[in-house]
Amino acid sequence: MIDVEKIRKDFPILNTKINNRNLIYFDNAATTQKPLCVVKAIEDYYLKENANIHRAVHFLAQKATSDYEDAREKVREFIGAKEKQEIIFTRGTTESINLVANSFIKSFVKSKDNIIISQMEHHSNIVPWQLMQNVVDFQIRVLPMNDEGELQIDKLTSLIDSKTKLVSLTHVSNALGVRNDIEKVIEIAHKKNIPVLVDGAQAVPHFSVNVQDLDCDFYAFSGHKLYAPMGIGVLYGKREFLDRMIPYQGGGEMIEHVTFEKTTFNELPYKFEAGTPNVGDTIALKEAINYINNIGYKNIEEYEDELLGYCEEKLRKSGAIIYGKTPKRVGAISFNLENVHPFDVGTLLDQFSIAIRTGHHCAQTVMQHFNIVGTNRVSFAIYNTKDEIDLFIESLERVKTMLY
Ligand code: PLP
Repeated sequence: MIDVEKIRKDFPILNTKINNRNLIYFDNAATTQKPLCVVKAIEDYYLKENANIHRAVHFLAQKATSDYEDAREKVREFIGAKEKQEIIFTRGTTESINLVANSFIKSFVKSKDNIIISQMEHHSNIVPWQLMQNVVDFQIRVLPMNDEGELQIDKLTSLIDSKTKLVSLTHVSNALGVRNDIEKVIEIAHKKNIPVLVDGAQAVPHFSVNVQDLDCDFYAFSGHKLYAPMGIGVLYGKREFLDRMIPYQGGGEMIEHVTFEKTTFNELPYKFEAGTPNVGDTIALKEAINYINNIGYKNIEEYEDELLGYCEEKLRKSGAIIYGKTPKRVGAISFNLENVHPFDVGTLLDQFSIAIRTGHHCAQTVMQHFNIVGTNRVSFAIYNTKDEIDLFIESLERVKTMLY
Protein backbone atom coordinates (compact mmCIF):
# COMPACT_ATOMS: atom_id res chain seq x y z
CA MET A 1 0.00 0.00 0.00
CA ILE A 2 1.17 3.49 -0.83
CA ASP A 3 0.93 6.21 1.79
CA VAL A 4 0.54 9.00 -0.72
CA GLU A 5 0.28 11.79 1.86
CA LYS A 6 3.62 10.70 3.33
CA ILE A 7 5.16 10.51 -0.16
CA ARG A 8 3.90 13.98 -1.07
CA LYS A 9 5.81 15.43 1.89
CA ASP A 10 9.02 14.29 0.16
CA PHE A 11 8.22 16.57 -2.80
CA PRO A 12 7.98 20.18 -1.56
CA ILE A 13 7.46 21.47 -5.10
CA LEU A 14 3.94 19.98 -4.95
CA ASN A 15 3.04 22.78 -2.48
CA THR A 16 3.50 25.35 -5.24
CA LYS A 17 0.49 27.59 -5.73
CA ILE A 18 -0.38 29.01 -9.13
CA ASN A 19 -3.30 31.44 -9.39
CA ASN A 20 -4.02 30.62 -5.73
CA ARG A 21 -4.55 26.97 -6.51
CA ASN A 22 -2.38 24.01 -5.59
CA LEU A 23 -0.23 22.81 -8.43
CA ILE A 24 -1.45 19.57 -10.02
CA TYR A 25 1.52 18.11 -11.82
CA PHE A 26 0.47 15.67 -14.54
CA ASP A 27 3.55 16.04 -16.76
CA ASN A 28 5.56 13.23 -15.23
CA ALA A 29 6.36 11.52 -18.52
CA ALA A 30 8.34 14.65 -19.43
CA THR A 31 10.14 14.65 -16.09
CA THR A 32 9.24 13.68 -12.55
CA GLN A 33 9.68 15.91 -9.52
CA LYS A 34 12.56 15.10 -7.17
CA PRO A 35 12.24 13.87 -3.60
CA LEU A 36 14.17 15.59 -0.79
CA CYS A 37 16.63 12.68 -0.50
CA VAL A 38 17.70 13.19 -4.12
CA VAL A 39 18.10 16.94 -3.70
CA LYS A 40 20.05 16.35 -0.50
CA ALA A 41 22.35 13.87 -2.23
CA ILE A 42 23.28 16.52 -4.80
CA GLU A 43 23.79 19.11 -2.07
CA ASP A 44 25.91 16.74 0.01
CA TYR A 45 28.04 15.86 -2.96
CA TYR A 46 28.87 19.49 -3.78
CA LEU A 47 29.22 20.58 -0.15
CA LYS A 48 31.22 17.63 1.10
CA GLU A 49 32.94 15.59 -1.57
CA ASN A 50 33.21 17.28 -4.95
CA ALA A 51 36.33 16.07 -6.78
CA ASN A 52 37.18 14.62 -10.15
CA ILE A 53 37.06 10.85 -10.11
CA HIS A 54 39.28 7.90 -11.09
CA ARG A 55 42.39 10.08 -11.27
CA ALA A 56 43.73 11.48 -8.02
CA VAL A 57 44.87 9.69 -4.88
CA HIS A 58 43.59 12.32 -2.44
CA PHE A 59 40.73 11.74 -0.01
CA LEU A 60 37.95 13.58 -1.84
CA ALA A 61 38.77 11.99 -5.19
CA GLN A 62 38.76 8.54 -3.61
CA LYS A 63 35.43 9.17 -1.88
CA ALA A 64 33.80 10.60 -5.02
CA THR A 65 35.13 7.68 -7.07
CA SER A 66 33.86 5.07 -4.67
CA ASP A 67 30.40 6.70 -4.44
CA TYR A 68 30.23 6.96 -8.23
CA GLU A 69 31.12 3.29 -8.61
CA ASP A 70 28.65 2.35 -5.85
CA ALA A 71 25.98 4.05 -7.94
CA ARG A 72 26.97 1.85 -10.87
CA GLU A 73 26.58 -1.25 -8.73
CA LYS A 74 23.19 0.04 -7.56
CA VAL A 75 22.03 0.45 -11.16
CA ARG A 76 23.34 -3.03 -12.02
CA GLU A 77 21.27 -4.52 -9.23
CA PHE A 78 18.27 -2.29 -10.10
CA ILE A 79 17.97 -3.63 -13.66
CA GLY A 80 19.40 -7.07 -12.94
CA ALA A 81 22.48 -6.82 -15.18
CA LYS A 82 25.10 -9.54 -14.90
CA GLU A 83 28.13 -7.29 -14.46
CA LYS A 84 28.56 -3.67 -13.48
CA GLN A 85 30.91 -3.24 -16.45
CA GLU A 86 27.77 -3.48 -18.59
CA ILE A 87 26.37 -0.27 -17.06
CA ILE A 88 27.43 2.90 -18.87
CA PHE A 89 26.50 6.30 -17.52
CA THR A 90 25.26 8.79 -20.11
CA ARG A 91 23.32 12.07 -20.10
CA GLY A 92 20.05 10.26 -20.66
CA THR A 93 18.13 7.98 -23.00
CA THR A 94 18.93 10.24 -25.95
CA GLU A 95 22.66 9.96 -25.43
CA SER A 96 22.40 6.22 -24.72
CA ILE A 97 20.70 5.61 -28.07
CA ASN A 98 23.11 7.94 -29.89
CA LEU A 99 25.97 5.96 -28.38
CA VAL A 100 24.60 2.67 -29.71
CA ALA A 101 23.68 4.23 -33.07
CA ASN A 102 27.22 5.52 -33.54
CA SER A 103 29.20 2.63 -32.16
CA PHE A 104 27.02 -0.26 -33.28
CA ILE A 105 26.54 1.01 -36.82
CA LYS A 106 30.25 1.76 -37.27
CA SER A 107 31.22 -1.59 -35.78
CA PHE A 108 28.71 -3.99 -37.27
CA VAL A 109 26.63 -2.46 -40.07
CA LYS A 110 27.62 -2.36 -43.72
CA SER A 111 26.16 -0.82 -46.84
CA LYS A 112 22.72 -2.32 -47.77
CA ASP A 113 22.17 -3.76 -44.28
CA ASN A 114 19.08 -2.68 -42.35
CA ILE A 115 17.83 -2.02 -38.84
CA ILE A 116 14.22 -2.05 -37.62
CA ILE A 117 12.52 0.59 -35.48
CA SER A 118 8.79 1.20 -35.01
CA GLN A 119 6.17 3.74 -35.85
CA MET A 120 5.72 4.72 -32.20
CA GLU A 121 9.28 5.74 -31.38
CA HIS A 122 10.36 8.91 -29.64
CA HIS A 123 12.47 11.04 -32.01
CA SER A 124 15.51 9.95 -30.05
CA ASN A 125 15.05 6.44 -31.45
CA ILE A 126 14.61 7.68 -35.02
CA VAL A 127 16.95 10.59 -35.67
CA PRO A 128 20.23 9.07 -34.37
CA TRP A 129 19.80 6.22 -36.87
CA GLN A 130 18.99 8.64 -39.68
CA LEU A 131 22.12 10.65 -38.87
CA MET A 132 24.19 7.49 -39.14
CA GLN A 133 22.84 6.94 -42.64
CA ASN A 134 25.26 9.75 -43.62
CA VAL A 135 28.09 7.48 -42.50
CA VAL A 136 26.92 4.02 -43.62
CA ASP A 137 24.40 3.44 -46.39
CA PHE A 138 21.98 1.22 -44.44
CA GLN A 139 18.19 1.07 -44.50
CA ILE A 140 15.76 1.88 -41.67
CA ARG A 141 12.67 -0.34 -41.67
CA VAL A 142 9.58 0.57 -39.68
CA LEU A 143 7.35 -1.83 -37.76
CA PRO A 144 3.85 -0.33 -38.12
CA MET A 145 1.18 0.13 -35.47
CA ASN A 146 -2.56 -0.27 -35.98
CA ASP A 147 -5.32 2.29 -35.44
CA GLU A 148 -5.58 1.23 -31.80
CA GLY A 149 -1.99 2.32 -31.30
CA GLU A 150 -0.74 -1.26 -30.90
CA LEU A 151 2.49 -2.40 -32.52
CA GLN A 152 1.87 -5.01 -35.21
CA ILE A 153 4.44 -7.41 -33.85
CA ASP A 154 3.19 -10.18 -36.13
CA LYS A 155 4.69 -8.19 -39.02
CA LEU A 156 8.18 -8.24 -37.49
CA THR A 157 9.17 -11.60 -38.94
CA SER A 158 8.44 -10.44 -42.49
CA LEU A 159 10.52 -7.26 -41.98
CA ILE A 160 13.56 -9.24 -40.92
CA ASP A 161 15.93 -10.59 -43.55
CA SER A 162 19.53 -11.72 -43.72
CA LYS A 163 20.69 -8.08 -43.79
CA THR A 164 18.89 -7.06 -40.57
CA LYS A 165 21.42 -6.10 -37.92
CA LEU A 166 19.39 -4.64 -35.04
CA VAL A 167 15.85 -4.09 -33.75
CA SER A 168 15.40 -0.94 -31.65
CA LEU A 169 12.01 -0.38 -30.02
CA THR A 170 10.40 1.42 -27.15
CA HIS A 171 9.19 -0.55 -24.14
CA VAL A 172 6.40 1.96 -23.42
CA SER A 173 5.21 4.66 -25.83
CA ASN A 174 5.62 8.14 -24.36
CA ALA A 175 2.95 9.50 -26.68
CA LEU A 176 0.28 6.87 -25.99
CA GLY A 177 1.15 5.12 -22.74
CA VAL A 178 1.02 1.78 -24.58
CA ARG A 179 3.21 -0.99 -23.18
CA ASN A 180 4.66 -3.11 -25.95
CA ASP A 181 5.13 -6.86 -25.78
CA ILE A 182 8.88 -6.41 -25.88
CA GLU A 183 9.40 -10.00 -24.69
CA LYS A 184 7.77 -11.25 -27.89
CA VAL A 185 9.84 -8.83 -30.02
CA ILE A 186 13.05 -10.11 -28.40
CA GLU A 187 12.00 -13.73 -28.90
CA ILE A 188 11.32 -13.18 -32.61
CA ALA A 189 14.53 -11.19 -33.18
CA HIS A 190 16.74 -13.60 -31.24
CA LYS A 191 15.41 -16.57 -33.24
CA LYS A 192 17.17 -14.87 -36.16
CA ASN A 193 20.20 -13.90 -34.04
CA ILE A 194 19.38 -10.21 -34.19
CA PRO A 195 20.14 -8.08 -31.12
CA VAL A 196 17.48 -5.80 -29.61
CA LEU A 197 17.81 -2.34 -28.09
CA VAL A 198 14.96 -1.35 -25.78
CA ASP A 199 14.16 2.30 -25.05
CA GLY A 200 13.03 2.06 -21.43
CA ALA A 201 12.62 5.78 -20.73
CA GLN A 202 8.90 5.39 -19.96
CA ALA A 203 9.14 1.90 -18.48
CA VAL A 204 11.55 1.98 -15.52
CA PRO A 205 9.66 4.76 -13.72
CA HIS A 206 6.60 2.50 -13.55
CA PHE A 207 7.54 -1.17 -13.33
CA SER A 208 10.45 -3.40 -12.51
CA VAL A 209 12.75 -4.28 -15.39
CA ASN A 210 15.24 -7.13 -15.35
CA VAL A 211 17.51 -7.05 -18.39
CA GLN A 212 18.64 -10.65 -17.95
CA ASP A 213 15.07 -11.93 -17.76
CA LEU A 214 14.18 -9.84 -20.81
CA ASP A 215 17.40 -10.97 -22.47
CA CYS A 216 17.55 -7.65 -24.33
CA ASP A 217 20.96 -6.69 -25.71
CA PHE A 218 20.79 -2.97 -24.90
CA TYR A 219 18.50 -1.07 -22.55
CA ALA A 220 18.40 2.73 -22.27
CA PHE A 221 16.76 5.01 -19.70
CA SER A 222 16.93 8.50 -18.18
CA GLY A 223 17.36 9.36 -14.50
CA HIS A 224 15.15 12.43 -14.59
CA LYS A 225 11.99 10.48 -15.40
CA LEU A 226 12.79 8.26 -12.43
CA TYR A 227 12.86 10.90 -9.63
CA ALA A 228 16.60 11.46 -10.21
CA PRO A 229 18.24 14.63 -11.57
CA MET A 230 18.40 15.72 -15.20
CA GLY A 231 21.64 15.01 -17.02
CA ILE A 232 22.18 11.43 -15.91
CA GLY A 233 21.10 8.33 -17.78
CA VAL A 234 22.03 4.73 -18.33
CA LEU A 235 22.92 2.46 -21.18
CA TYR A 236 22.98 -1.24 -20.39
CA GLY A 237 24.68 -3.36 -23.01
CA LYS A 238 25.67 -7.00 -23.08
CA ARG A 239 29.42 -7.34 -22.77
CA GLU A 240 29.57 -9.47 -25.92
CA PHE A 241 28.52 -6.38 -27.92
CA LEU A 242 30.14 -3.60 -25.91
CA ASP A 243 33.52 -5.36 -26.02
CA ARG A 244 33.42 -5.42 -29.81
CA MET A 245 32.04 -1.89 -30.34
CA ILE A 246 34.34 1.03 -31.06
CA PRO A 247 34.10 3.94 -28.59
CA TYR A 248 31.48 6.63 -29.11
CA GLN A 249 33.50 9.64 -27.97
CA GLY A 250 37.24 10.10 -27.53
CA GLY A 251 39.01 11.90 -24.70
CA GLY A 252 40.24 11.38 -21.19
CA GLU A 253 39.30 8.30 -19.16
CA MET A 254 38.38 6.13 -22.16
CA ILE A 255 41.99 5.40 -23.13
CA GLU A 256 44.56 2.86 -22.05
CA HIS A 257 47.57 4.23 -23.93
CA VAL A 258 47.90 7.17 -26.30
CA THR A 259 50.62 7.97 -28.83
CA PHE A 260 50.34 10.12 -31.94
CA GLU A 261 50.38 6.95 -34.00
CA LYS A 262 47.83 4.86 -32.13
CA THR A 263 45.54 4.77 -29.10
CA THR A 264 44.38 1.71 -27.22
CA PHE A 265 41.17 1.89 -25.23
CA ASN A 266 40.28 1.43 -21.59
CA GLU A 267 38.26 -1.55 -20.40
CA LEU A 268 34.47 -1.51 -19.97
CA PRO A 269 32.64 0.58 -18.96
CA TYR A 270 35.23 3.40 -19.11
CA LYS A 271 35.77 2.88 -22.84
CA PHE A 272 32.34 4.52 -23.28
CA GLU A 273 32.66 7.23 -20.62
CA ALA A 274 34.99 9.80 -22.16
CA GLY A 275 35.69 12.95 -20.14
CA THR A 276 34.62 14.03 -16.68
CA PRO A 277 31.30 12.36 -15.87
CA ASN A 278 28.32 13.78 -14.03
CA VAL A 279 29.39 12.47 -10.64
CA GLY A 280 26.96 14.36 -8.37
CA ASP A 281 23.87 13.40 -10.34
CA THR A 282 25.02 9.80 -10.63
CA ILE A 283 25.23 9.60 -6.84
CA ALA A 284 21.78 11.21 -6.65
CA LEU A 285 20.48 8.58 -9.10
CA LYS A 286 21.46 5.96 -6.55
CA GLU A 287 19.33 7.78 -3.96
CA ALA A 288 16.38 7.86 -6.37
CA ILE A 289 16.69 4.10 -6.86
CA ASN A 290 16.80 3.60 -3.08
CA TYR A 291 13.69 5.76 -2.82
CA ILE A 292 11.83 3.65 -5.40
CA ASN A 293 13.00 0.41 -3.82
CA ASN A 294 11.74 1.55 -0.42
CA ILE A 295 8.29 2.14 -1.84
CA GLY A 296 8.45 -1.04 -3.93
CA TYR A 297 7.53 -1.53 -7.56
CA LYS A 298 4.59 -3.75 -6.66
CA ASN A 299 3.05 -0.86 -4.72
CA ILE A 300 3.96 1.66 -7.40
CA GLU A 301 2.38 -0.43 -10.17
CA GLU A 302 -0.75 -1.14 -8.19
CA TYR A 303 -1.25 2.48 -7.24
CA GLU A 304 -0.48 3.96 -10.65
CA ASP A 305 -2.74 1.38 -12.34
CA GLU A 306 -5.57 2.54 -10.13
CA LEU A 307 -4.92 6.20 -10.98
CA LEU A 308 -4.75 5.46 -14.71
CA GLY A 309 -7.94 3.38 -14.71
CA TYR A 310 -9.77 6.03 -12.70
CA CYS A 311 -8.65 8.87 -14.97
CA GLU A 312 -9.30 6.97 -18.21
CA GLU A 313 -12.84 6.12 -17.21
CA LYS A 314 -13.58 9.73 -16.25
CA LEU A 315 -12.04 11.02 -19.47
CA ARG A 316 -14.11 8.60 -21.55
CA LYS A 317 -17.28 9.67 -19.74
CA SER A 318 -16.41 13.28 -20.50
CA GLY A 319 -16.36 12.45 -24.22
CA ALA A 320 -12.62 12.88 -24.78
CA ILE A 321 -11.02 11.02 -27.69
CA ILE A 322 -8.41 8.69 -26.20
CA TYR A 323 -5.52 7.39 -28.30
CA GLY A 324 -3.92 4.00 -27.89
CA LYS A 325 -5.97 1.03 -26.77
CA THR A 326 -4.01 -1.27 -24.58
CA PRO A 327 -4.64 -4.05 -22.12
CA LYS A 328 -1.99 -2.46 -19.92
CA ARG A 329 -1.63 1.28 -20.06
CA VAL A 330 1.45 2.59 -18.36
CA GLY A 331 2.08 6.07 -17.04
CA ALA A 332 0.18 8.21 -19.51
CA ILE A 333 -3.12 8.87 -21.27
CA SER A 334 -3.21 10.84 -24.51
CA PHE A 335 -6.47 12.52 -25.50
CA ASN A 336 -8.09 15.28 -27.52
CA LEU A 337 -11.30 17.22 -27.26
CA GLU A 338 -13.15 17.13 -30.56
CA ASN A 339 -12.16 20.01 -32.88
CA VAL A 340 -10.00 21.68 -30.22
CA HIS A 341 -6.28 22.30 -30.59
CA PRO A 342 -4.39 20.68 -27.69
CA PHE A 343 -2.48 23.92 -26.98
CA ASP A 344 -5.79 25.60 -26.14
CA VAL A 345 -6.67 22.86 -23.66
CA GLY A 346 -3.20 22.93 -22.08
CA THR A 347 -3.13 26.72 -21.82
CA LEU A 348 -6.55 26.90 -20.19
CA LEU A 349 -5.79 24.04 -17.79
CA ASP A 350 -2.68 25.93 -16.74
CA GLN A 351 -5.00 28.71 -15.55
CA PHE A 352 -6.42 26.12 -13.18
CA SER A 353 -2.88 25.29 -12.03
CA ILE A 354 -2.88 21.96 -13.85
CA ALA A 355 0.30 21.02 -15.70
CA ILE A 356 -0.26 18.66 -18.62
CA ARG A 357 1.71 18.14 -21.81
CA THR A 358 0.39 19.22 -25.19
CA GLY A 359 1.79 18.74 -28.67
CA HIS A 360 3.48 15.93 -30.53
CA HIS A 361 5.50 14.66 -27.53
CA CYS A 362 8.61 14.19 -29.71
CA ALA A 363 6.68 11.47 -31.54
CA GLN A 364 5.58 13.11 -34.76
CA THR A 365 5.28 9.78 -36.57
CA VAL A 366 2.59 8.77 -34.05
CA MET A 367 0.69 11.99 -34.74
CA GLN A 368 1.06 11.41 -38.50
CA HIS A 369 -0.49 7.97 -38.07
CA PHE A 370 -3.57 9.44 -36.38
CA ASN A 371 -3.55 12.44 -38.72
CA ILE A 372 -3.56 14.92 -35.84
CA VAL A 373 -1.30 17.83 -34.87
CA GLY A 374 -0.89 16.63 -31.32
CA THR A 375 -2.62 15.46 -28.18
CA ASN A 376 -3.08 16.38 -24.55
CA ARG A 377 -1.15 14.00 -22.36
CA VAL A 378 -1.69 13.45 -18.66
CA SER A 379 0.99 11.34 -17.04
CA PHE A 380 1.22 10.14 -13.48
CA ALA A 381 3.71 9.50 -10.73
CA ILE A 382 3.51 8.04 -7.24
CA TYR A 383 2.62 11.38 -5.64
CA ASN A 384 -0.52 11.99 -7.72
CA THR A 385 -3.97 11.37 -6.26
CA LYS A 386 -7.56 10.65 -7.29
CA ASP A 387 -8.52 14.04 -5.81
CA GLU A 388 -6.19 15.67 -8.30
CA ILE A 389 -7.82 13.68 -11.10
CA ASP A 390 -11.26 14.85 -9.93
CA LEU A 391 -10.07 18.45 -10.01
CA PHE A 392 -8.54 17.91 -13.44
CA ILE A 393 -11.79 16.50 -14.85
CA GLU A 394 -13.80 19.32 -13.24
CA SER A 395 -11.44 21.87 -14.76
CA LEU A 396 -11.61 20.13 -18.13
CA GLU A 397 -15.40 20.49 -18.04
CA ARG A 398 -14.97 24.21 -17.40
CA VAL A 399 -12.46 24.42 -20.24
CA LYS A 400 -15.05 22.81 -22.50
CA THR A 401 -17.65 25.43 -21.62
CA MET A 402 -15.10 28.11 -22.55
CA LEU A 403 -14.21 26.46 -25.86
CA TYR A 404 -17.54 25.19 -27.20
N1 PLP B 1 12.45 7.76 -25.28
C1 PLP B 1 11.25 7.96 -24.74
C2 PLP B 1 10.21 6.88 -24.87
C3 PLP B 1 10.98 9.13 -24.06
O1 PLP B 1 9.78 9.33 -23.51
C4 PLP B 1 12.00 10.12 -23.96
C5 PLP B 1 11.73 11.41 -23.31
O2 PLP B 1 10.62 11.87 -23.25
C6 PLP B 1 13.23 9.86 -24.53
C7 PLP B 1 13.43 8.67 -25.19
C8 PLP B 1 14.36 10.84 -24.45
O3 PLP B 1 14.74 10.97 -23.12
P1 PLP B 1 15.76 12.11 -22.68
O4 PLP B 1 15.23 13.40 -23.22
O5 PLP B 1 15.73 12.04 -21.19
O6 PLP B 1 17.09 11.75 -23.24
